[in-house]
Formats: sequence, structure tokens, C-alpha cells
Amino acid sequence: IDSADRYDRGQIIAIANQKGGVGKTTTTINLGTALAAVGRKVLLVDLDPQGNASTGLGITGDKRDMNTFDLLMGEASLNDVRTPTGIPNLDIAPATTDLSSIDVELYRDSNRTRRLRDALRGSGDRQVLESYDYILIDCPPSLNLLTVNAMVAAHSVLVPLQCEFFALEGLSQLLVTIREIRQSQNPELRVQGVVLTMYDRRNNLSSQVEADVRENLRDMIYDTVIPRNVRLSEAPSHAIPALIYDHTCAGSIAYQKLAAELLTREHDALRAGA
Ligand code: ADP
Ligand code: MG
Repeated sequence: IDSADRYDRGQIIAIANQKGGVGKTTTTINLGTALAAVGRKVLLVDLDPQGNASTGLGITGDKRDMNTFDLLMGEASLNDVRTPTGIPNLDIAPATTDLSSIDVELYRDSNRTRRLRDALRGSGDRQVLESYDYILIDCPPSLNLLTVNAMVAAHSVLVPLQCEFFALEGLSQLLVTIREIRQSQNPELRVQGVVLTMYDRRNNLSSQVEADVRENLRDMIYDTVIPRNVRLSEAPSHAIPALIYDHTCAGSIAYQKLAAELLTREHDALRAGA
């Protein structure tokens, strides 16, 4: 094992974009599955009250007794809430609609933005965290307390960006939030990368948006682009990742490429920091 491999245990990546329907959950599930398939131990943290990542992995209601709401409330530990998905190397901390009341529940708590960080990185569950290589947090579609908790807890943020006309405006707002959190609560937070999703080669707008964001953000954008692919949208109704539903479809292949690119970036980032 080379030194970089030892240091990248327990890397926490928040998958965030304040817009809904841009591919956060699809990316969390399929990037997580692709990393698990190449032998990385992966924990998905469902931080969206809609619980789409949990449902998409077949975690039924009876298997959500211990969930991320309990984790944030300090009523359960990481060890309590992690749940096997049935896919080797892939666990999930599931979500329920309880999460939607977290703002109210934590209103008086001066530590409310650090709840997830303490639960994941506090001394208590350090060993559990470090039994995983990657922890991917599926964020809700807003810059609310839940997303802030994810960014305060994370080492980096991965942004799925849909190729549409106002993509860059939304992204710059997100980058401002990331910078604010870096300055106030989490100095080590970096942008893992921005991945273009639902890319349609036959659509001029997709390629215009791509050219535009690549010119503006250069290395921040992954080389890998996720195409619009119906298999990716069908898989959740079968409660399995697209990578298992149809591992040869264009969407599955793209997520495997994204996983490889992420591993290369992580390796380089650790080298640079060493
Ligand atoms: P978010 O979590 O950002 O709200 P989702 O991952 O749930 O977004 O995606 C929104 C919808 O688009 C879902 O129905 C999903 O199945 C579908 N979808 C996501 N990515 C793709 C893609 N690359 N091609 C086709 N459909 C996609
Ligand atoms: Mg989602």
C-alpha cells in the first residue's frame, strides 16, 4: 500500500446543489456503487427528507428505525444508523421525513451547524468512520441547515450540474456558500469537482453550456460527463442502482468513469497536501 492509500480513509464528500432534479441522488447512488465495485468501502448518508437515496437502494420503512434524523439529534450513533444495502462494500444511513423538522428541532442549539460533523468525525465514532474509504452525503435541494451540516462535516463538495441555461448563476451562488463555510467553520473544505449531468449530445444547448462552464471553471469540471440516459431514471423504481440494473448502459459506464476520475483526483489532492 502506498502512503496516499492509508490517508484517504474516511473521506467525506457532500453531493450538493440547491436546485432539485439535477442528479444529486442519482450521482450519490451510482458513484457510490461504482466506488464500491472497485473495492472501496462506501457509506452513503441520506440527508434529504425525501429519502430518495434510501428508497432507490431498497431500504424500506421498517429498516429506517435508526436514521439520519436520530443521528443529527444525537439520539443514535453512526454505528446505530448504518445499514447494509445488500451490495458488497456499500452501506447507507437512511433518511425519513422526520428530517424536514430539523430546523425547528435544533432552533435553540448553538451547535446546530456542526451536528453531522460531530456525529461523523467526533471521537466516539472515529473508528466507524475510518472503516469506510468514502462517505457520500446526498444533500437536499436547498442551502438549508441540512446542506450546511453536510458542508461543515465534509472534506470536499461534489456538484452535479445540469446543462441548462442558468447553470452558471446557480453554481456561483453555491460556490459563495462553500467559500463562506470554508472561512467560518471548515477551513479544509475544497471543491472535489463539478460534474455535468443529463448531457444531451444532440442538443446544442448542452454543448454550449458545457463550453461555457469549462471556460469559466476549467479544472473544476470533471472530464467525465453524465449523459441523459433512460436506464438511470428507470433503476430507482427497481430499488437498485443503475450499475446493477444495467451495467452496460451509457449512464452506468459514465458513473464508472467518474469514479475513476474521482479516485485520481483524491490521490493527487492527498499527494499535494502531503
Ligand atoms: P436530485 O437528487 O438533484 O433532485 P435526481 O438524481 O433525483 O436529482 O434526478 C432527478 C430525476 O432525473 C430523477 O427522476 C432521476 O431518475 C432522473 N435522472 C437523473 N440523472 C439522469 C440522467 N443522467 N439521465 C436521465 N435521467 C436522469
Ligand atoms: Mg435528491
